[in-house]
Amino acid sequence: TTTQTLLEVHDVTIKFGGITALDGVSFDIREGEILGLIGPNGAGKTTCFNVMTGVYQPTSGQIRFAGTGLAKMKRHAITRLGIARTFQNIRLFKSMTALENVLVGADAHSRVGFFHALLRTPLQRREEAESRERAMELLKFMGLARRADELAVNLSYGDQRRLEIARAMATNPKLICLDEPAAGFNPAEKVVLMDLIKKVRDRGYTVLLIEHDMKLVMGVTDRIVVLEFGRKIAEGTPAEIRDNPAVIAAYLGVE
Ligand code: ATP
Repeated sequence: TTTQTLLEVHDVTIKFGGITALDGVSFDIREGEILGLIGPNGAGKTTCFNVMTGVYQPTSGQIRFAGTGLAKMKRHAITRLGIARTFQNIRLFKSMTALENVLVGADAHSRVGFFHALLRTPLQRREEAESRERAMELLKFMGLARRADELAVNLSYGDQRRLEIARAMATNPKLICLDEPAAGFNPAEKVVLMDLIKKVRDRGYTVLLIEHDMKLVMGVTDRIVVLEFGRKIAEGTPAEIRDNPAVIAAYLGVE
């Protein structure tokens, strides 16, 4: 079997003034895999998401997604191309319902503006009805169907985290990047989330996962890339990473 490369990070360096946040980092994400991105605090994981999604431009190096170079591409263009993400700190529209939050995600992808209600054509109305159906289906998938009409601000912390994933999925991405989705979860919630991440992949999405909990990372990923001080120090299967001396040293160094 041949596995296609979906995203290619090639020799990416990004500097913020005197800080080199990423230093010549290269790795591939293969279609259909769950790739873990780990490393001690400040290693450059979130920066990696930021350069992949157009928040920052790399100082040097290239990123290619499904054959297209992302250089100079704006965030919304990258979303449309098929990369979605969640954030370390939850970023929901607090005064909108759960369903509306997912619809806003879908809207980032479609050409139909949900807020121009008076100007809608029959075709747009039909598209809107379909989007609602799809959004409801995503909420159901995330176990949030009964929360659809509740304001995001009133949802439990765990439900807000899951809603973020539903909203990211609503843009119909090929690649979904999760930035510490289990932060603040108890062990039982982590087990549920692990299962959900696998189900997300089984629906056909490719997943990139930043996560500090080693048990979760080892249990859910196919491969892992390890960063330390902006450099890639290791790459391999969970079993290979667990036994890698450089990785063990990096983690012991910060304990
Ligand atoms: P954590 O696990 O703590 O979230 P991380 O691996 O995600 O860490 P990054 O947030 O990517 O690490 O940060 C990598 C380095 O880049 C840090 O030294 C950080 O201070 C620096 N950095 C990131 N963004 C900026 C910025 N906009 N301006 C200046 N420095 C930045």
